[in-house]
Amino acid sequence: MHKSGLVNIVGNPNVGKSTLMNELVGERLSIITNKSQTTRHRILGIVSGDDFQIVYSDTPGIIKPHYKLQERMMNGVVSSFEDADVFLYVTDVIETQDKNLEYIEKLQKTKVPVLILINKIDLADPNTINDLYDYWIKSVPNAEVHLISALHKKNLSTIFDRIFELLPEGPAWFPKDQLTDKTERFIVSEIVREKILKNYQKEIPYACEVVVEEFKEEPKIIRIKVVIVVERPTQKGIIIGHKGSALKRVATHSREDMEAFFGKKVFVEFFVKVKKDWRDNDYNLRDFGYV
Ligand code: GDP
Ligand code: MG
Repeated sequence: MHKSGLVNIVGNPNVGKSTLMNELVGERLSIITNKSQTTRHRILGIVSGDDFQIVYSDTPGIIKPHYKLQERMMNGVVSSFEDADVFLYVTDVIETQDKNLEYIEKLQKTKVPVLILINKIDLADPNTINDLYDYWIKSVPNAEVHLISALHKKNLSTIFDRIFELLPEGPAWFPKDQLTDKTERFIVSEIVREKILKNYQKEIPYACEVVVEEFKEEPKIIRIKVVIVVERPTQKGIIIGHKGSALKRVATHSREDMEAFFGKKVFVEFFVKVKKDWRDNDYNLRDFGYV
């Protein structure tokens, strides 16, 4: 018998969804930072064995829509509730429970099996963990509750075993050696976005979009051209930094990660362009693949 299914990883920003998916898939597919809203697109992570294929989906966190970009991100979240075989609802020992109320109602009603994963147990004492466990068991009686640490790989094999048991019978949807539905260009843009988030303050990262204009693989090297699109000339100045120092740091760190991911030498060039108010512009959003 062959089993296959879609496993949706859902939860608030910052609780560790991307960390968890990366661990479950065993590759660094989703970008991880400690700022919220990092995962803008839905990313599939695929794990295959001889008799199974699990397709994980890492969705953007729940946020209140402020402008068009966030509305699009929310749509990604909504559609993810409808087409899963298993839900992994991730929460952690830090977030307050009021953040989960909207979700709890949905989780109670769904016919899909739900695993509630209380993450970051490395950061809390046993009493806090026990209280949280009781809270979740009572709040969503149809779910199983598990205690994990995605970062420290605690109890992840139990999660895998449970997912495997819950998977329906079905064929493989992707070639068995495929890791993700995303293109190499997409992986590149995610790496660069992560570096932008790590290297600039406040609103700057959210005003940026990363476009990979060129990805050319040669026998010994990959040649990449990246354009960082910002909304205003002042932002362009900040991205570049004094004598180009800020952009240089982003470029160096990006290249290191790209070389690690692709296992090959990478030559990457960066350009910064201004496109006024791209976040509120439907045409540009379509251009960047948000529709
Ligand atoms: P997401 O927004 O839900 O995708 O969360 P991320 O996977 O990006 O993680 C947010 C932050 O929490 C990162 O700094 C992670 O390193 C951290 N984190 C994730 N899992 C754990 C964990 O088990 N323990 C601790 N201490 N930190 C974690
Ligand atoms: Mg994430």
